[in-house]
Amino acid sequence: MQRNTRRGSDVNKLGDLIKLERLGEGTYGTVFKVHNKKTGELSAMKQIKILGGDADGGVPSSAVREISLLRSLDHPNIIQLKDIIPADGKLYLLFALMFKDLRQHIDGTRQQGNHLPSNIIRSYTQQILQGLDYCHKRRLFHRDLKPQNILLDEVGGLKLGDFGLAKLFGTPVRITTFEIATLRYRAPELLLEFPDYGPAIDIWSVGCVLAEMIQLTPFFKGTNPLDQIHRIFSILGTPRESSWPGISSSTIYQDISYSIEQTSCLSQELSDASPEQINLLSQLFCFCPKSRISAEEALKHQYFTEIFSSQENNAASS
Ligand code: AMP
Repeated sequence: MQRNTRRGSDVNKLGDLIKLERLGEGTYGTVFKVHNKKTGELSAMKQIKILGGDADGGVPSSAVREISLLRSLDHPNIIQLKDIIPADGKLYLLFALMFKDLRQHIDGTRQQGNHLPSNIIRSYTQQILQGLDYCHKRRLFHRDLKPQNILLDEVGGLKLGDFGLAKLFGTPVRITTFEIATLRYRAPELLLEFPDYGPAIDIWSVGCVLAEMIQLTPFFKGTNPLDQIHRIFSILGTPRESSWPGISSSTIYQDISYSIEQTSCLSQELSDASPEQINLLSQLFCFCPKSRISAEEALKHQYFTEIFSSQENNAASS
């Protein structure tokens, strides 16, 4: 009886929503802008098909994970899950509405022949790290950080979204797949198939996103995992046991490491980057996950603590 009443109210809740334009496509389905005709509120609605069509069962485990994780998170740089409506054999998640994602913003900026202003790049990087620091301190990592999952408002605010792949870390888990994190943002420990990866994989992705905001194009543009490793090593050099103890136990590393020559370096690839950006990037791109800078440490980097970076000073004086 109680269940029917709840279902009835869920259907009513859904009936109050008017679907407006499509905002984007994610791992679980389409995201729409919706308008609540009773409250006037605008939201982003993610619609997830429930396998088997029964609202009480068959919900994809990844969706359940995202829901329970998101509900427990409360931070200005993490997207707010406002409501969950199970109805019509689907699950509707209502999120705070954002303006666009960082992928759209980067692509739009490039198409207009512009650059992202250096203060915006710094503020976005700082907000990404603040969101991650909050998550990592709660033993949670995102696992699929990329511009599409980074949401922007119209006044410079940024929130991390799409926590479908996030999971609690701490207890060692047997990993059967390393295909987490979109290839271009995937950390070397995943590419080399080390089973005990942790929150440092998100930090690597922050490096990729920062470099992409500077360059307006993905930084390591691999087409498959091996090609991705080649591209990383050819810019950053090939890691050795001295810098990443244990690396030679990876069979992938054993097969390829001897053949990759360093043909470039960070400052050559990113000629528009300031020295502070290059210094931070070199720590975000530290090969050894244990030595890679944490979100908390990165937030103390001079890139964020100095009022003007040298690049901005140069721009201001020219
Ligand atoms: P997701 O399934 O979370 O990866 O979302 C897919 C796409 O939908 C994103 O890349 C955004 O373009 C858009 N989107 C997701 N959530 C929101 C939101 N809260 N506000 C505005 N657009 C969103």
